[in-house]
Amino acid sequence: MPKLFLRPGHDKPVRRHHPWIFSGAVARIDGQPDDGDIVEVYSSEGEWLARGYLNRRSQIVVRLLTWDREEAIDESFWHRRIDRAVRARTLLELESVTDAYRLVFAESDWIPGLIVDRYADFLVLQCLTLGIERRKELLVRLLAEECRPAGIFERSDRDMREKEGLAPSEGVRWGVEPPDRLLIQEYGHRFRVDVRRGHKTGFYLDQRENRRRTAAYLAGRRVLNAFSYTGAFAVWALAAGARHVVNLDSAADVLSEAAANLILNGFPESSFECVEGDAFRVLRAFRSTGRRFDAVILDPPKFAFSQAHLQRATRGYKDINLQALHLLKPGGILATFSCSGLVSADLFQKIVFAAAEDAGRDVQILERLAQPPDHPIRLSFPEGEYLKGLICRVW
Ligand code: SAH
Repeated sequence: MPKLFLRPGHDKPVRRHHPWIFSGAVARIDGQPDDGDIVEVYSSEGEWLARGYLNRRSQIVVRLLTWDREEAIDESFWHRRIDRAVRARTLLELESVTDAYRLVFAESDWIPGLIVDRYADFLVLQCLTLGIERRKELLVRLLAEECRPAGIFERSDRDMREKEGLAPSEGVRWGVEPPDRLLIQEYGHRFRVDVRRGHKTGFYLDQRENRRRTAAYLAGRRVLNAFSYTGAFAVWALAAGARHVVNLDSAADVLSEAAANLILNGFPESSFECVEGDAFRVLRAFRSTGRRFDAVILDPPKFAFSQAHLQRATRGYKDINLQALHLLKPGGILATFSCSGLVSADLFQKIVFAAAEDAGRDVQILERLAQPPDHPIRLSFPEGEYLKGLICRVW
């Protein structure tokens, strides 16, 4: 087995079961491994520490798989890992509330580089690393045996795979082709999911519980659902008794899907409106024309992709929250989210505070929100924590 030796002082994260080894931590590699091969990781003093798969093309040179010297990375290893992830979901008893959830959350489920989402009878997978790409056939077979889906569809997008030197990859990997729109249900609300063209694997599964928490405050209210995507918050809002919802998104195609989802759930066209535009501009326009709301939901895309972008991202979050605060009637609800892992919950709260100060509004936090248990946070991999939100009362 090829051996990778760490530079002095770089063994601590490995000993603490952090799954990543960055290129800067590597002293040398003995042997001639191909990228994707398993390597043995040693401290600078020559002590065996862990084993993982290699990719010299990536900044993350090794993703660690096991810290047990006796544990070989063979078919039974991958089977045990998938089994653990699936079992963790079974234990959550999600089946009683939804047929769409994350089955495998990569590093956070000890399977670095692999994401698997379940949408009713189908699995959608994303292979984010070369190490997983090389073992894709095996993993697909194991998933098929374990979950018995009608089909397994791959949606490995360009942006994530580029860093690994991989081209995008999409298509049916097992069983039958998924229909143009898959139908899922979330607490009895029904949604159409486009696994080919939708964002991520098709649906924002990670907001399931936050939609439920937010909806509890929306009865009788006129709601602005900013960054609506396919209208999941809107369906929840109207189902909870909201009077009217405005979906706002910059993409026309997702807005027509939002309308379709609202109709599918039995809401008349008079109960909602879809506005296409840049939220930063549209919120300002609403302010200047005197349009006000009883509740605003802000669920923007990821703004912070690297430490270098953090300041700009912070300004973006502050601005959008400031604009939202201006639109709220006294006693109104602001449900505001950030899915940037680099923005901590603490920083996010400070950003919303700064926006409240500028807006001259008194704000109370009613609930703090995070990612749901099918997107677990592994203690030894804090990078897996990314979603945070606040439900606020605004005076
Ligand atoms: N709340 C949604 C998920 C939102 S994803 C849900 O629960 O399903 C973020 C959305 O923001 C995407 O649909 C994207 O098209 C939209 N978006 C990105 N930038 C935007 C902008 N500047 N103005 C308005 N919408 C934007």
